[in-house]
Amino acid sequence: MARFATIRKLRWDNACVPNMTDYATERARFSWDEARRSLDGLPNGRGLNIAHEMVDRHAAGGHRSHVALRCLPRHGARTDLTYGELARRSSQFANALDRLGVTRSDRVFVLMPRTWWLYVSVIGALKHRCVVSPLFEAFGPEPIRERLALGGARVLVTTPDLYRHRVAPIRTLLPELRHVLLATTSTPASAPRRETATEIPGTLDMALLLEAAPDSYVIGHTDPEDLALLHFTSGTTGPPKGALHVHDAIVSHHATGRIALDLHPDDVYWCTADPGWVTGTSYGIVAPLAHGVTSVVHEGGFDAERWYGVLESEGVTVWYTSPTALRMLMAAGSEMARDHDLSRLRFVATVGEPLGPDVVVWSSDALGVPAHDTWWQTETGAIMVANYACMDIRPGSMGRPHPGVDATVLARDDQGHVLLDPDGTAVEAEAGLDGELAIRPSWPSMFRGYLGGDERYQACFSGGWYLTGDLARRDAEGYFWFVGRSDDVIESAGHLIGPFEVESVLMEHPGVAEAGVIGVPDPVAGEIVKAFVSVRPGYEAGDDLRLDLLGFARKRLGATMAPREIAFDQHLPHTSSGKVMRRLLRSRELGRPRGDMSTTEDGP
Ligand code: ATP
Ligand code: MG
Repeated sequence: MARFATIRKLRWDNACVPNMTDYATERARFSWDEARRSLDGLPNGRGLNIAHEMVDRHAAGGHRSHVALRCLPRHGARTDLTYGELARRSSQFANALDRLGVTRSDRVFVLMPRTWWLYVSVIGALKHRCVVSPLFEAFGPEPIRERLALGGARVLVTTPDLYRHRVAPIRTLLPELRHVLLATTSTPASAPRRETATEIPGTLDMALLLEAAPDSYVIGHTDPEDLALLHFTSGTTGPPKGALHVHDAIVSHHATGRIALDLHPDDVYWCTADPGWVTGTSYGIVAPLAHGVTSVVHEGGFDAERWYGVLESEGVTVWYTSPTALRMLMAAGSEMARDHDLSRLRFVATVGEPLGPDVVVWSSDALGVPAHDTWWQTETGAIMVANYACMDIRPGSMGRPHPGVDATVLARDDQGHVLLDPDGTAVEAEAGLDGELAIRPSWPSMFRGYLGGDERYQACFSGGWYLTGDLARRDAEGYFWFVGRSDDVIESAGHLIGPFEVESVLMEHPGVAEAGVIGVPDPVAGEIVKAFVSVRPGYEAGDDLRLDLLGFARKRLGATMAPREIAFDQHLPHTSSGKVMRRLLRSRELGRPRGDMSTTEDGP
């Protein structure tokens, strides 16, 4: 399983002591009830509301003038927003919604670039007990229409530009959409507005609405089981699903922020994910604010020089990013990392796709701290398996289940279904064997349903477990290793092959920038392994490199797992959240229809 040496746990002799200093002790003493008690709850027993835990409780205490958001806009000067300011403006927004006749449980969609308006909208709508759905700003009109229609959007918050180009053409197809509020993305104080939103018919100007609304708001009784967030999955394996989450999810966000991300009150934290994906909300908005830290809100996309610049100039201490981003930094060269002072960086974690062992080692050398892989998904709402500051890292492993999370690997039958005992309990796989990664319900941020998909929701549970659709194996010490998605697994000559393992070996070859691996039908073996590879500058895609790669992979993986075919492709299809879309590679290869394209990198 492990081809790379263990990386010893972080040292904290003279530095910040991690919130969790011993994994076994914390796991033994942890309970969700106790985690819930570490939150405040609404005053006078009015329940539990995410917005209160994120903002109002800090604003009411000594943290009022602490910076909550450090916004680095694409153009213009940076703006700081304190917890007090965020509480005030989000209350104005909650009052504005009230004045518009928007009520509890109404769906509020937010289609915005990463600016403080986005935070104010999400937090204000949660205060007003609406169900909030942040959408990725790069979506085109059709994916926006689909999600708004499926989610029964009552309110949309967006910008004049996005409205004009993406929403206006589909507005008549959304009869349930009552209010469109437009916010200019510039900051009100520092930049002139490019246009007044009220000039656009059928829309309201968000700035005017806020100015006219009172700046205090009493959050009404919020049952922890009230719906709070609607998140669409990345659409890697099929059309995106809308997962519903409740206010109680804050308990998971807060606990994982403390334990898995090791957030301390003085941290400067940066989550690079867009809130249109669950990571960008759970860990870009909710968890850091719940811990009262300062969050960097960077509006632009990836740019190696700029990102190193942000880490250095903002003195980022905890960084949550993606394996793709680290691979891109790696490709930009370690010298660029050395040109920046990253000495304040204390903890780095990633999510979303497998974190190759080579990237963990590179991060340790170039950034000064190893990247800690974390595993979770839209449906789980929060981190489930992770590498922790107090634990040795086995590069390539996702780590161990979070305290309070009961995770396992379930054995599967020949058809790929989990094996059930006669009494209906699922059979756990032995250490070292592949099976379905499963979590025991219920943890607080477990999704409570798919939009319009009751049957689909029920089908996610079997034998007393939530089935994640991912395959994994566990080693003798309880570390989990990602194998692949059950939909992507290749069955060749009676063996199950996880594409990730093949891809990560190919990516260790200096000529390979990225790889996507699928199974293609074969009359003898059932399926054979085929790899699509993009090459690094300085290497030539051709027969020489192909032969070299075939030999390289065979030597590392053995004949069964090594690709039998290699094709070069400098434009591997990605989701807009950066994952290689194997289902598109498969449909291209087999000449099948492409299916849902709404979340591909280049848009539908
Ligand atoms: P869809 O469900 O629509 O196909 P998706 O599963 O990619 O899309 P997300 O919920 O955004 O949508 O992603 C969660 C998935 O991402 C996980 O189920 C897993 O397959 C993958 N993933 C997340 N973290 C990791 C990780 N650390 N290692 C490997 N894979 C990961
Ligand atoms: Mg999924």
